[in-house]
Amino acid sequence: MATAVTGAENVEWDLHDLFEAPDDPRIDDELDEAAAAATAFRERYRGRLGELSAAELNEAVVELERLKSISTRVETFARLRLAADSSDQSRGALVQKVRERNTQIETELLFFDLEWSGLDDGIAERLLVDPALAQYANVLRSERRYKPYQLSEPEERISAEKNLTGAGAWSRFFNELLSDLRVDLDGEDLSLDETLAKLSRLTDQDERARVAEAVTGALRPGVRTRGYILNTILNERAIEDRLRGYSSWIAARNLANEIPDEAAQSLVDAIVARYDIPQRFYALKARLLGLPKLRDYDRFAPLQEVGGTIAWDEARDLVLDAFNGFSPQAGELVGRFFERDWIDAAVRPGKMLGAFCATTVPDVHPYVLMNYAGERRSVLTLAHELGHGLHGSLAQELGLLNASTPLTLAETASVFGEALTFERLMEREDDPRTRLDLLVGRIDDAIATVFRQIALNRFENAIHTSRRDEGELPVERISELWTREQERMLGEAVEVTEGYGIWWSYVPHFIAVPGYVYAYSFGYLFSLAIYRRYLDEGESLVEPYLDLLRAGGSAPPAELASRLGFDIGDPGFWSAGLDAVGTLVDEAEQLAAQLD
Ligand SMILES: [Zn+2]
Repeated sequence: MATAVTGAENVEWDLHDLFEAPDDPRIDDELDEAAAAATAFRERYRGRLGELSAAELNEAVVELERLKSISTRVETFARLRLAADSSDQSRGALVQKVRERNTQIETELLFFDLEWSGLDDGIAERLLVDPALAQYANVLRSERRYKPYQLSEPEERISAEKNLTGAGAWSRFFNELLSDLRVDLDGEDLSLDETLAKLSRLTDQDERARVAEAVTGALRPGVRTRGYILNTILNERAIEDRLRGYSSWIAARNLANEIPDEAAQSLVDAIVARYDIPQRFYALKARLLGLPKLRDYDRFAPLQEVGGTIAWDEARDLVLDAFNGFSPQAGELVGRFFERDWIDAAVRPGKMLGAFCATTVPDVHPYVLMNYAGERRSVLTLAHELGHGLHGSLAQELGLLNASTPLTLAETASVFGEALTFERLMEREDDPRTRLDLLVGRIDDAIATVFRQIALNRFENAIHTSRRDEGELPVERISELWTREQERMLGEAVEVTEGYGIWWSYVPHFIAVPGYVYAYSFGYLFSLAIYRRYLDEGESLVEPYLDLLRAGGSAPPAELASRLGFDIGDPGFWSAGLDAVGTLVDEAEQLAAQLD
């Protein structure tokens, strides 16, 4: 793949802060020590948690955190090396070895959470209010939410081990099918990701139609197999819910996200009630593209040829400037990622596509991976991942157990960093056409994150509940539900073509983490709400916001939100965020009117 020269070609991370090298003897030494210590931990504490004093329980949690930190650090090192070059089989082998050893350690420690959650409320409460346990009281209290749904320890051990050959194995099989999938586009042999990326670059509708047909053509041959995998996962979820007593297909996910069922539902309802926003935007976009109506594959089309490359140094300055303008401390923390080689930005063969920030590395700073290609999207991705990096850096002092946030809060700082950087990009542009182009790109992202993910959530809701009522779902039935939910969101504004009906069959989240997708909408709207407050209140919001990031996952999302004066259980909270997206569409309409 030819890439413009950006200056990011040599931007590679330095993993020495984790371990010296893959054959660093410390890796095995630490895993050996952790395995022995886990066995000793089990012998010392199993069956005794109820007899411990608060100080003794605190000591146990400190040790538990230490062991989990070792596992995390080693696994992060192995995973980051593989992400940097997945064509090197020895890197895959190290990941596999570390995972197997970590499963061994985790199985030894499994009793702790089960026994703790199973303790009598009176005993647990007495311990939780004791000042000696203050540091971990929130984490321990939160763990007890699983109490009503837990099985006995032997059952849980069997379940954990069988998962490697159950849902875990199906998920890996699904991913391997997808990465083997090749698309034939006019004789060019492309991966699915490479092909889909063309839909946001091609300015000609006929060319986009050919890309979409090629994708559909590539998805069709294996659709029954992937439909079978999806059915298996639907059934697995139904069995789990029955055995553990969850009230609906989404209840276990909500519990993991620390969101009450009603709050999750009020988010979904609020977004579905505003499907007029994407419909209004897509009608505007059709007009801007000179089309009578958009088709499904036109939604991410650019308004004009994607122009000029933004050099890496320029992108760095833009992003640093954006964070610095918000808070010098935030700017300083983000600056370290550049100065100390914590970012891998070069585009290389064998490197993982996409971008991520590895934040839960105890005692070590986060690392960022991305593929910097020099277009505006890349600059925003850099800002997004560094937002995660800032969040991780600020929360790190709390230690592993308190620092890691549930999915719902994980996107708080990343979307915020994007918003700050987007303003800087806008400031640089005078040309109304380029400004409109930028704004439309921002709305494309907002709609993909807020509305599209909820249409996916409604699809998941439909297939999970239908599988429970109707038995195994034929591929045609899955496609019918998929098309129905897409059409509900897109209304009259977008024509959903027939080929699109099987595009559900490449979404890995449905397989790997059922129920995951609504967390994107949650995180985006939550972050947007904070950003709007910052625009209104300025300086006075900076410290409370940084405090929210410093708090990591040390309290449930609703409580952390309430420290900023937000009530996530109130449907009005979500409508304010949705109005903000609507305002972006208003602005685009005004800009477009000026150009007419
Ligand atoms: Zn993110």
